[in-house]
Amino acid sequence: MKNFTTRSLNIPFPKKDPHNSLAMPIYESVSFEFDSAEDIAANFRGEFPAHTYSRTSNPTVEYFEAKVRILTGAHQVLAVTSGMSAISAAILAVCKQGDNIISGNHLFGHSLALFEQSLSAYGLETRFADTTNTELIEALIDQNTRAIYFETVTNPQLEIADISKLAEIANRHHILLIADSTVTPPSVFNSKALGIHVEVMSATKFISGGATAVGGLIIDNGIYDWSINPNCLAVAKKFGKDAFIARLRKNYYRNLGMPMTAHTANYMNAGLDILELRVERCYQNCLKLGEFFRQNRNVTRVDYPGLKDSEYYDLAVNQFSGIPGTVMTFDLESQEECFRFMNRLKIIRRATNLNDNKSLIIHPFSTIYAEFPENERLKMGIRPSMMRLSVGIEGAEDLIEDMEQALK
Ligand SMILES: *Cc1c(COP(=O)(O)O)cnc(C)c1O
Repeated sequence: MKNFTTRSLNIPFPKKDPHNSLAMPIYESVSFEFDSAEDIAANFRGEFPAHTYSRTSNPTVEYFEAKVRILTGAHQVLAVTSGMSAISAAILAVCKQGDNIISGNHLFGHSLALFEQSLSAYGLETRFADTTNTELIEALIDQNTRAIYFETVTNPQLEIADISKLAEIANRHHILLIADSTVTPPSVFNSKALGIHVEVMSATKFISGGATAVGGLIIDNGIYDWSINPNCLAVAKKFGKDAFIARLRKNYYRNLGMPMTAHTANYMNAGLDILELRVERCYQNCLKLGEFFRQNRNVTRVDYPGLKDSEYYDLAVNQFSGIPGTVMTFDLESQEECFRFMNRLKIIRRATNLNDNKSLIIHPFSTIYAEFPENERLKMGIRPSMMRLSVGIEGAEDLIEDMEQALK
């Protein structure tokens, strides 16, 4: 089986279902019983793997983790409460006070806030650099650097870094390469093949199957030697290749309390089965909309790295099978024109999410980035004349008709 959807539909359950259910049941149970006192004692010694309590593991969530692991070819996968818990836990698990990470300077807003506000309070420094310029990154690495962190496609700038260059730097300095791949789902992107050690993702976006649930994923590709990191050395001695997820599951998933719920995992399991279809439909819509924007004289600029004349097109083809997510930006003359246009839309919704089934539009300058001073916004490439469109699965002709009437 080669096709993503065929594979997703045929991943066996970790244990055979007693009723031969075709869909993984929702195990909405907190606790799980043991047959004997000896079994439960062996379980607590780590010698008898079984579910015990749903803040540690749960069968429906385990199946979601197995699906993602098999579909991506990863070594191990952990499903967590949200994209933000995936990012925070992955960083916390490899760093301690006094350490630093190097991060792309164009980040999802809450990731930026996590690094600048939350983690810095615990003595964890983030050094920001333009990840499309790899020389800048190397200059920032010192003996306390534990990871390079970047987003596969930045949003809303839609820039793409050369991942194999980043992997080369990380490997040369024996540090971890972590990618937030939320925008480029696993049906179009294989992080392991490009040398990414750990992938974090907001499953809320593409995977949940149309904005139905909040969740996150931490994916260990099994290509990093955990004993190199001084904070993981002890756990690497005990767990070898499984060190990272073992440390995460105990010290963060369990102790900080970030388990995905069984109900959420159920949405995610269903979402994975139709992921490839949805991504493909959104992508075809992006191409048609790109054409429409080009031909409309009110639209002064269009950005989508899946379009042939984008400066990132070659990287989009090489790294993301030509589908660099399905978020586009486009510009009108002014902020006033953008607002007028948005207010006239009838099908495209004004909302701040990505990869819903519905097409969503937002004006980043006056919303997501409003708290930053104007000069900083401009420096980040957030223009008052720009709108971000997360392209959905509607018919392209309906989306175009909606925009045509709103542009009149
Ligand atoms: C939405 C998003 C997140 C955060 O995910 P949540 O599931 O909302 O916590 C992180 N990174 C990127 C790129 C995102 O788009």
